[in-house]
Amino acid sequence: MVKLDFELNVEQKMIIKTASEIAQDFGPEYWREKDKNHQFPTEFWKALAEASFPGIVIPEKYGGSGLGMFEMVLAMETLTSEGCGLAGTWFLVLSSVFGGLSILKHGNEAQKEKYLPKLAKGMEFCMALTEPDAGTNTLNTKTMAVKEGDEYVINGQKIFISGADRAKGMLLVTRTTPIEKVPKRTLGLSLFLVDLPNPSIEAIPIEKHGVNYSKSCEVYISNLRVPEENLLGEKDKGWYLILDTLNPERISFSAAAYGLGLLSIKKAVEYARERNVFGVPIGRYQAIQFPLAEAKAKIEAARLITYKAAWLYDKGQPCGAEANMAKVAAVEAGTQAVYHAMQTFGGYGYAVEYDVERWWREINLIRLVPLTQQMATAYIGEHVLGLPKSY
Ligand SMILES: Cc1cc2nc3c(=O)[nH]c(=O)nc-3n(C[C@H](O)[C@H](O)[C@H](O)COP(=O)(O)OP(=O)(O)OC[C@H]3O[C@@H](n4cnc5c(N)ncnc54)[C@H](O)[C@@H]3O)c2cc1C
Repeated sequence: MVKLDFELNVEQKMIIKTASEIAQDFGPEYWREKDKNHQFPTEFWKALAEASFPGIVIPEKYGGSGLGMFEMVLAMETLTSEGCGLAGTWFLVLSSVFGGLSILKHGNEAQKEKYLPKLAKGMEFCMALTEPDAGTNTLNTKTMAVKEGDEYVINGQKIFISGADRAKGMLLVTRTTPIEKVPKRTLGLSLFLVDLPNPSIEAIPIEKHGVNYSKSCEVYISNLRVPEENLLGEKDKGWYLILDTLNPERISFSAAAYGLGLLSIKKAVEYARERNVFGVPIGRYQAIQFPLAEAKAKIEAARLITYKAAWLYDKGQPCGAEANMAKVAAVEAGTQAVYHAMQTFGGYGYAVEYDVERWWREINLIRLVPLTQQMATAYIGEHVLGLPKSY
């Protein structure tokens, strides 16, 4: 079980205990199979829903547990570090962060009543932000929503949209005013809630390096008609609303990154104790032991700043600095841990059977999502250090 040095309340301890039990039921062997066969983990998602995990951050009034990001982090890090790998965080981000938190923060009462109870029960959800031509520069979004009567007609293209092949709801980021016509570049974007499947939306899975139990898709949107009541928050102010989703997203993936690091270290340490090549266990060699020890120290530091970011978020305080620093620190520490776990296993680290190669593919994704390490670092340079914007 994940050990913490400060006192948690009964609910928080219960979340860790339940997450730990689920992680035992869906350990590395399960994920090896799901990844190999490119299969959605139906049984796992059902178990999370039965344990009320998708509803952790959703208020009790809407069928959730009414807890916060801190509790979500406890669930994610436990699931991830105790055997589920990135999957322990991934599906909760899609449903609870992209769906639950966005709607909770910016939805009107009708939208909350429509979506939150379903999300709390495990409705699958996705967020369509990234576009092929815009990439990291969201302000270059080209997907356009044009008002026609009491509907919006939406056309455009998205890329890498995780879960779009099977989600029942989508948070879709569009332009509602062309960039040339807004007084400020950050204006003119809007968010829509779209029910799926919809014949005007085609999702084509992209063949990829890892996380093959979840598909990420090219999404083509052709004359999609959305009633105006599906607009989330204020028209043209979508950029500011997305910013609110980005911090919990970064906090979640930080938990995933150090969780993967802890999982890899545990497995590597077990192996390093037993593997005997020149008459002593390989764990005795400093070349094997020190990088793992160093990664462990960095992981524990990254974990604390992740907790701080989650705690600030739950208090409604600004947490951009902490969320970005957590992302950078956790991913670097996690990458070091998984890399050296692979080295510890020698040739076996390259074999699918030992799982570390899968975690290596997973940690490399967190270098890129939800935003790249470079962009999180640029945020720290500009907003924490006060240096000139680097781009
Ligand atoms: C498997 C997977 C799942 C994903 N799921 C989703 C999803 O569900 N929803 C969604 O909307 N998106 C999703 N994404 C998209 C993801 O968020 C983007 O891929 C990521 O933000 C980077 O954008 P890009 O790939 O266009 O890279 P680009 O923006 O083209 O960047 C390329 C490289 O240039 C660097 N770079 C660019 N600009 C700067 C700068 N100013 N300073 C320094 N370096 C810079 C980047 O850091 C990167 O290394 C997913 C991606 C993957 C791979």
